[in-house]
Amino acid sequence: MKHLSSINKYFWKYRVRLLLGVVFIIVSNYFRILSPQVSGYIINKVEQHLSNSTVSNIANKNYNVAVISFINAIEHHQFTFSDIVIICGITLLILALIGGIFMFLMRQTIIVMSRHIEYDQKNEVYEHYQKLDMHFYKTHNTGDLMNRITEDVSRVRMYTGPAVMYLINLVAAIGFSVYFMIQENWRLTLFVLSPLPILAFTIYYVNTLINKKSERIQSQLSGLTTTAQESYSGIRVIKSFVQEKATKAFFDNNSEEYKNSAIGLAKVESIYFPSMGLLIGLSTLITIAVGGWYYVHNLYNVSAGTIAEFVLYINFITFPVSAIGWTAIMVQRAIVSQKRLNEFLDTKPTINDDSLETIHTDIKGNDITVEHLSYTYQNTGIKALNDVSFHIKNGERVLLFGKTGSGKSTFAQLLLRFYNATEGHIYIGDTEVNKIPVHQLRQSIGFVPQDNFLFSDTITNNIGFGLDVAADADTVQNAAIMAGVHKDILGTKEQYNTMVGERGVTLSGGQKQRISIARALIKHPDIVILDDCLSAVDAKTEQEIVGNLDRFLAGKTAIIITHRIFTHLKFDKVIILEDGSIKEIGTPEALLERDNYYSQMYHLQMMKN
Ligand code: ADP
Ligand code: MG
Repeated sequence: MKHLSSINKYFWKYRVRLLLGVVFIIVSNYFRILSPQVSGYIINKVEQHLSNSTVSNIANKNYNVAVISFINAIEHHQFTFSDIVIICGITLLILALIGGIFMFLMRQTIIVMSRHIEYDQKNEVYEHYQKLDMHFYKTHNTGDLMNRITEDVSRVRMYTGPAVMYLINLVAAIGFSVYFMIQENWRLTLFVLSPLPILAFTIYYVNTLINKKSERIQSQLSGLTTTAQESYSGIRVIKSFVQEKATKAFFDNNSEEYKNSAIGLAKVESIYFPSMGLLIGLSTLITIAVGGWYYVHNLYNVSAGTIAEFVLYINFITFPVSAIGWTAIMVQRAIVSQKRLNEFLDTKPTINDDSLETIHTDIKGNDITVEHLSYTYQNTGIKALNDVSFHIKNGERVLLFGKTGSGKSTFAQLLLRFYNATEGHIYIGDTEVNKIPVHQLRQSIGFVPQDNFLFSDTITNNIGFGLDVAADADTVQNAAIMAGVHKDILGTKEQYNTMVGERGVTLSGGQKQRISIARALIKHPDIVILDDCLSAVDAKTEQEIVGNLDRFLAGKTAIIITHRIFTHLKFDKVIILEDGSIKEIGTPEALLERDNYYSQMYHLQMMKN
């Protein structure tokens, strides 16, 4: 239960609703519990009428005050017998109506409250997801994240809504009916309640079984979803390797297992309600047998009305009691789900600005200094950077050159504070990057990641993504021209309003790369980092972009990461990385005079041209 205590803040937030809900539940139960007494009264009345007795047999009944005043009023008015029957009939109807109205109100307050809580909780989880760092995202899969924010949150809602409502209802219903039963006849009450321990045990046993089975079903369903999702995302690979049959067989297998478990669960569930019915029927049977015995032998003041009243009480608690098992399942599931949610909510992002006394360095106009920088990926133990030191002057254009896996992207991500350096420091001016607020740092850097990603939105919105206000058409177009993608966009049917991504046109890899370049450039960042972002662009387009970039980058600090040679772009400095260490640093001209990876690649490229 301790996991669910993190929900209490929401109960407190919606305390008025909750309290109102509790009041409605109690009032609803109160009105409904009066009907057995009215029924008992009228049955006694009928009995009295049939036996032509004039002695009232209701005087010594311990009815509720409301019922007693109602009876007194009727008796006082000297109604005829048939009038009394009609009045009581109407009263029963009214009681049911009032009880129903309050039941409606209780659902309105408590279920609505649970929807509010669900909304708040979804936002809480989403907001927390956004704060978590890259390491978190590398170690958790998307399916899991999705499941927690949807499935788990809605399971917790089953607790804050229906489960809470049924629990309070159960307490109220049992409380009222047992109280009135004991008032009426405590001996008979004991008999009526005697099957309760068996009932409790059955509920507990079947409930555990159901829970175990549904947990298994849940995880099978999760697996099934993942399988389906992967086969849609990877449909091209599946089709090109002609593996449709194999994937289908795999899916069928999983699906079959799921079906079998679901059928197993249905079996257990179908035992549950009949056995509840049996035990409750047993209670009714005992009431009639024992009550009848007392009545026939004229014992303990039991009348025909008493027996009817008890049968109605049992009827009254049937639903709340049957709901126990179900409620317990909901609570158990909510505990598991909330535990999973708490796991994430309690994860503290390692990259945060909490400890910062927000130093507002100007990033513009400052040098970048890297000192003995090392980084080891925690999850794989790979040392991606090893004691790297260099200096980039403000406005310099630097080529970070090296084979794949040499640690180039890792450096870019450290500069952007996606990770904290394992050892060493990166300074912008005199300030270490991890002393600069993430927001400010990332705003000032135009980063084009290696694995570019576009949203399912229009080209305009994708290019303007990083801006705080919607960009006007000219600005977007300028950025597109700069990134060499303007002509491509004009070639599409709806031009800048073309939808990209899953729901839209399929852009080529090179077009996507250039749109993400435009997205980075439109911010007019102080520092530009292009991570291998021209790899899918043909030589002619590359020449065009590089020509544009040359103008755009004038006066800006730029780090161009690549394993290719750009002959049309002038660099101030080339840094050659190899296996996480710096091999050589120098001007392109100086490096070309010696034998190194850069000069080798350069000459290879020249030969090709
Ligand atoms: P480059 O950009 O030069 O191709 P990276 O910086 O991407 O190189 O990678 C450097 C090394 O770190 C590689 O050996 C790579 O396998 C490893 N690496 C990169 N990203 C991760 C990651 N998220 N988790 C674990 N290891 C990684
Ligand atoms: Mg890379």
